[in-house]
Formats: sequence, structure tokens, C-alpha cells
Amino acid sequence: MEQLLRNVFLFLSKNKLFTKLAKSYGLKFGAKNVVAGEKIDDAVKIIQKLNEEGKVVTIDHLGEFIDSKEEARASALECIEAIRAIADNGLDAQMSLKLTSMGLDISEEIVLENMYKILDVGASNNVFVTIDMEDYERCQQTIDIFKHLKNDYENIGTVLQSYLYRTMGDIKDLNYLSPNLRLVKGAYKESAEVAFPDKKDVDENYKKIIKTHLQNGNYTAIATHDDNMVDYTKQLEKQLSLDRGQFEFQMLYGFRKELQKQLVEEGYTVRVYVPYGDDWYGYFMRRLAERPANIAFVLKGLFKK
Ligand SMILES: Cc1cc2nc3c(=O)[nH]c(=O)nc-3n(C[C@H](O)[C@H](O)[C@H](O)COP(=O)(O)OP(=O)(O)OC[C@H]3O[C@@H](n4cnc5c(N)ncnc54)[C@H](O)[C@@H]3O)c2cc1C
Repeated sequence: MEQLLRNVFLFLSKNKLFTKLAKSYGLKFGAKNVVAGEKIDDAVKIIQKLNEEGKVVTIDHLGEFIDSKEEARASALECIEAIRAIADNGLDAQMSLKLTSMGLDISEEIVLENMYKILDVGASNNVFVTIDMEDYERCQQTIDIFKHLKNDYENIGTVLQSYLYRTMGDIKDLNYLSPNLRLVKGAYKESAEVAFPDKKDVDENYKKIIKTHLQNGNYTAIATHDDNMVDYTKQLEKQLSLDRGQFEFQMLYGFRKELQKQLVEEGYTVRVYVPYGDDWYGYFMRRLAERPANIAFVLKGLFKK
């Protein structure tokens, strides 16, 4: 049943008509619990509150289905506006973005053009930029672009997913760059040809990549809501005598708020991933797919203004 719901939500997340409709209807169906608002000003207020609570942030301007260079440039301008808002408001925040929003499905040239602009503004405002990882089809291209940009910029990182067979190889391959990586389990529907079909193997590989990247001496963001993985990281901290300046926990806005609070109280860095924008629908559906229990958010949202 859970697998069926997962597939339904992932299917819905890719529906262009629903994406369009959702954009014109505004934040609905409980999405407000996990999306910070439609405008950057909404997000700024939420980030200020999170910073006051001792949490740091990475902000994501939501965008799906970019079909033209103009849309990709507009999306890059939104990122630049967000970086300026971070700087102008003195927020403790970074930026996350997806290369498809920068025009990956159009041409690599437009992606690089957009990324240079964003990274320049990021560098001059001391704002770090993480390239989110998307589906397998785009993984190699994303890594190649990351490597290319990392030659010129310090303020850039990316994400690797433990559900892919290739990921331990990527951890080793990228080590020469001493990269700042966010490690996740993976959010897309992938075939057994490229990804572990069993959750148990995804979890085992997650532990392995966390340990290897930390042992290599690289900055590691452990982005998970899973208690087992948080506990595992705490064990590694002792076992490897890690400095807390070498890693952080990351969680999505609206998820595991108690755990976030507890980790802050224990002195860990907790970074909250804060999405905003009117293109909230695909993001919201992917979160429901990850954990159909999140459907409680939907029900709550139906009765809340
Ligand atoms: C900050 C951040 C950034 C991300 N960036 C990317 C990215 O760039 N690319 C990508 O593919 N994916 C990304 N993801 C998503 C990620 O890949 C997973 O799909 C997602 O985090 C679910 O896996 P999990 O490790 O949280 O736990 P799961 O494997 O989904 O759950 C394991 C266990 O954790 C507990 N748990 C999980 N969620 C909850 C909850 N909401 N409430 C209570 N208990 C819970 C439950 O006990 C559950 O059984 C990101 C996730 C985060 C947190």
C-alpha cells in the first residue's frame, strides 16, 4: 500500500497540468507546513525565526519544468534576489538550487552562464551554494558541472544519494576536490539497474558514504530525518574524534521539529532546508511520496486557513 501511494505521489509530482493549476491557486492542502511561502519576503521572516532558534538555513527557490532560456534566466535572477535578501537581512543562510531550474535540459552553456552569475553574487556576499541532486539521468552531468565550477569557486557544494550504486565511486572520485557534500538517501524513483531496490541496502550504503567522506576529512552535511542515521553520526563523532566543525545535520522545513530542537540544544549545527516560491506543487508531492504518513499535513491543511 505504502509503495503504491509512493508511486502515485511521484507520478503526480511530474504532472505539468497540476503544477500549473497549483501555481495559480496558491499554497494549499497543507503545503504551508513545509513551504515557507510564495515570496522571498515570506521566506525571510521564517529564516529570521529559525536563526533566532539557533538553526541555520539553506534556502531553495522552487521551480519545476523550465522550458526556455528566458525561464532559466528568470530562475537564476530569483536565486540572486534570495542571496541579496540573505545578505541585506544579515541571515545565517545558504542557497540550494537545481540545475534543471538553471536550464540543464536546454543546454550546458545556459546553466554555466546562470551559475557564474549566481556564484559571483554568492562569493561577494559570502553565501554558499549547494547544487541539489536530481534524478539518475542527470547525475553525471550535475557532477561534471560541479567539478567544473569548483575549479573557480570555493562557495559551492553538491549532493550525493546513497540509493545509487555509483555513489561510493563518486565519493572517492570527488575527494581530490575536498568537496563540501550533502549526503542523502535519495528522493526520486529509480530502477534496480541503477539504485538499490531494498531500503536496508540504501541505509547501509548511507552509513558507508557518511563514514568515508568524514574519514577523508571533508565537510559533510548529513541530511536525514532518520533517528538511526543521526545516532550513527553521533557514534562516528566519538569513534573518529570528529570536530563538530566538520559536519552538520540538515532537515527539511516543517519536519522533525523536536529532533531539530534537541540537536541544537546538544550543540550540533542544524541546517533547515527552506523552500519558497509559487511552484510548490512538485516539491510537496515528492515529500508526500517519501513518507505517505505526511498526508496528515494535507488533512490538517484542509481545515486550516
Ligand atoms: C536537507 C535535505 C536536503 C535534501 N536534498 C536532496 C537532494 O538534493 N536530492 C535528493 O534526491 N534528495 C534530497 N533529500 C531527500 C532525501 O534523499 C530523502 O528522500 C529524504 O530525506 C527521506 O529520507 P530520510 O533519510 O529522511 O529517512 P527515511 O528513509 O525516509 O525514513 C527513515 C525513518 O526515519 C524516520 N522519519 C523519516 N521522516 C520522518 C518524519 N517526517 N517524521 C518522523 N519520523 C521520520 C522514520 O522512523 C522512518 O522510518 C534531501 C533531504 C533533506 C533532509
